[in-house]
Amino acid sequence: MAGAKVLTKKTPEDFAKMEIAGRCVAAVHDAVRAAIAPGVTTAALEAIGAEVVRDHGCRPSFLGYHGFPATICTSPNRAIVHGIPGDYVLRDGDIISIDAGAIYEGWHGDAAFTAAVGDVADEVQKLIDVTEEALWNGLRQARVGKRLGDIGYAVEATAEPHGFGVVREYVGHGIGQQMHESPNIPNYGTPGRGLKIKTGMALALEPMFNLGGAETTMLADDWTVVTADGSFSAHFEHTVLITKDGPLVSTLQEPLRL
Ligand code: MG
Repeated sequence: MAGAKVLTKKTPEDFAKMEIAGRCVAAVHDAVRAAIAPGVTTAALEAIGAEVVRDHGCRPSFLGYHGFPATICTSPNRAIVHGIPGDYVLRDGDIISIDAGAIYEGWHGDAAFTAAVGDVADEVQKLIDVTEEALWNGLRQARVGKRLGDIGYAVEATAEPHGFGVVREYVGHGIGQQMHESPNIPNYGTPGRGLKIKTGMALALEPMFNLGGAETTMLADDWTVVTADGSFSAHFEHTVLITKDGPLVSTLQEPLRL
């Protein structure tokens, strides 16, 4: 999902609105996570997500974004990101990535997670766990005095000992009054290099790791990005606000200060 790129400095008032959007996204995650089970369709997960966004007085970020037809992205198994909810029925042994964004008074929150459906192979659970760990390792670098290369390096280094493919074509991003703002935040990098992190930034970090190679391809729907080799893929994302009091992960029911 490419968007217009702007880099704006947010005020504490802006951040307060982004916290409300973030709390909405967290509520979507919780409701959808609770519904994930064998036999459930991705369309049913979409209905749950859409209802939660409405109930929070927010609007969905994704619906209509470059024509995307849903409130959440549902990306099973080999799908990395941007899967469209529909008639796919979750099966025991699947994994499913859920990405959700919400807008409150014009300000966005954006976050994603991957969950196992029933019992999954040990290596698949490891993929999920390590991708989530990589997100948190990246978030811990998202502070004033660090650079984007520190984030990317922390994420990539988490995958490396496991041999997971680190997706390079799709990256994290700045976020604010647009879902996708500057800068791009790659899941690879060199420590001490790249843009300096400053107070007033809002960043969406989103590692995507594959059980096999890093290469991706696009399905015929022109949305769903999948692994080229058919291996399973995991995706975790949070929005982090660089406040004057330090980084604040906003896409949680209780925002977390790092
Ligand atoms: Mg995102």
